[in-house]
Amino acid sequence: MNFFKKGDDKLQIDAIEDLKQKIFSACMPPEVREIAENELLTMSRISPLMAEYSIGLTYIEYLVSLPWNKRTEDNLDLRRAEMILSERHFGLGIVKERILEHLAVKTLLMAQGRQPHILIVDDEEVAVKNLEHILKRENYAVETASSGTEALRRTAMTSFDVILTDLRMAKMGGMELLEKIKISYPDTRVIVITAYASVETALEATKKGAFDYITKPFNLDAVRAAVKKAVESVSKASVKGSVICFSGPPGTGKTSLGRGIADALGRQFSRISLGGVRDEAEIRGHRRTYAGAMPGRIIEEIRRAQSSNPVFMLDEIDKMHNESRVDTAAALLEVLDPEQNSCFIDHYLDVPFDLSSVMFIVTANVADNIYEPLLDRLEVIEFSGYTEEDKEMIAQRYLIPRQIREQGLSQCPPKFNIEAIHKIIQGYTKEAGLRGLERQIATVCRKIAKETVLQKCPVEVLRVTPEVVESYLGPRKYDFEAATAKNRIGVTTGLVWTETGGDIIFVEAAKMWGSKELILTGSLGNVMRESAQAALSYVRSNAGTFKLPEDFFENHDIHIHVPAGAIPKDGPSAGATIAMALISLLMGRPARRDVAVSGELTLSGRILPVGGIREKILAARRAGIREVILPVKNRVDIDNLPAKMKKDVSFFFAESVEEMADKVLL
Ligand code: ADP
Repeated sequence: MNFFKKGDDKLQIDAIEDLKQKIFSACMPPEVREIAENELLTMSRISPLMAEYSIGLTYIEYLVSLPWNKRTEDNLDLRRAEMILSERHFGLGIVKERILEHLAVKTLLMAQGRQPHILIVDDEEVAVKNLEHILKRENYAVETASSGTEALRRTAMTSFDVILTDLRMAKMGGMELLEKIKISYPDTRVIVITAYASVETALEATKKGAFDYITKPFNLDAVRAAVKKAVESVSKASVKGSVICFSGPPGTGKTSLGRGIADALGRQFSRISLGGVRDEAEIRGHRRTYAGAMPGRIIEEIRRAQSSNPVFMLDEIDKMHNESRVDTAAALLEVLDPEQNSCFIDHYLDVPFDLSSVMFIVTANVADNIYEPLLDRLEVIEFSGYTEEDKEMIAQRYLIPRQIREQGLSQCPPKFNIEAIHKIIQGYTKEAGLRGLERQIATVCRKIAKETVLQKCPVEVLRVTPEVVESYLGPRKYDFEAATAKNRIGVTTGLVWTETGGDIIFVEAAKMWGSKELILTGSLGNVMRESAQAALSYVRSNAGTFKLPEDFFENHDIHIHVPAGAIPKDGPSAGATIAMALISLLMGRPARRDVAVSGELTLSGRILPVGGIREKILAARRAGIREVILPVKNRVDIDNLPAKMKKDVSFFFAESVEEMADKVLL
């Protein structure tokens, strides 16, 4: 039965012909092409009005639009890469160094990859000559040996990627050689050469760890294919575990550095955010049987980049939705694992796509929050917040010139003086990174742009001073909270570490008539609530030490509150701060506001070390803290900080609550 009129038929034939042409020019791997052609065949047999027709059409259109064979050539000039990275980013010395090392390793691996080393072991001269000839033409570095013993001598001198060995030889046969190689050089792939008659033995060899076998007389294509497969598996295994993870607070340059790496290598740059990903299908796509099925975001981004080897940034890997973490992580493991990602299967595509040349970089705010099996595969590079001096420098050299360009002020660029920059940083931002600072500078530049246009003639070079900043940005938003506030009884300053960097908190304690209740407020997490209970128990059990009446809790309630109640807070490091607030309250001694405390408290009053020291110290300086009291065991962290980070702050290392109280209470 014919469903169409003549004209419809013609249209369908044209459409099918068009697709056939597209399949032909899409440079797909043969197995994918076959699937596309089969799909096309099915389409040509059904009516264009049927749903399957349009599903097939969209599918083939999608397949042909993927960059199967399109890739950019890497520029591995390390000096150029170094220049690009330093032109765009101030500081970050250690990070840049690690990236250059990473590129250097890749370069070396690629160089090795270009000329894999192959050893042929056979006592039959003609066979050796034959194989040597075939493999040299494939551009491999080839050596030969006539026995297992000679082969072992050679492996001691050269590292071979692949060894092809005959099984029956006078001095040490292939099976024994295989066993010895597997022990001493487990990464070397061994291919066994055998006659047709002894395929059984070859199979036994595969059980013992041989990678593959080839049979005599040689089929040239089979030899080439087996060796190629072995070489590829070696080079993929050697870059295993080399996915970089940038971890640090927002705005510290992770994304822009990723972009810098892409530019340095001459690759396309792609990026997706994993924050809040709930469903594995977002990574791996939906099967085509679902209505409205779509490919996953990885394949979609590769298509958008139109390159099969972009630098691909997977943002916020630590923010993946908790409930679906296992499934999503499994999909991501497949994407990131060099052993598996050469044949990554997106459910929508339903054919493998080779992701092995993609350079994946993942980012996280806190590496510790990354799902353990994923973290295992990553090489974590820490980014830390910037000091005020760094921020001033970056604003002057990078952010202001960029905003001047972007807001169209290049003709008559305003001049920001250093006091103005200082004022923006201190009065209008409170962050570890630079996002807020860049936004505020952009606002100032936009306002200048508006004025320039309103006045219709370019104003003479505008000098941006603190007064100009205030007139554009309004009254300052942040103050030196800690330094300026009055010392009070029952209020202490603490340092905490959050996903957005370090911060200061104030812990408040109050006492009233009641029935021995401990009230905790301020969106405290479980660990912090327990710290508060431990702190109270410590003070109660050591009432004598602090000259408190033994029954101070008898007819009272105690309330501990941490302001900024809308922000959830957790972690053990506020234990010592809470204890200080309680002791200050109960002893009636005011606590110094400009002294900040961080430390985990044990029931016996010892102070245990805490993490995130770098970010905490930066936060302390931002808030105008003069003295920081830390656990003794954190002394090494402070010793390891660069001097510029410790400017204007003095440190005291305490072992016990009493020592801390002496410093904090007036
Ligand atoms: P993240 O990805 O860590 O949140 P971004 O890469 O988005 O941070 O950085 C925010 C802004 O700060 C960008 O405009 C970036 O260029 C700038 N920036 C960050 N670090 C530096 C630096 N060291 N030197 C120059 N600019 C920087």
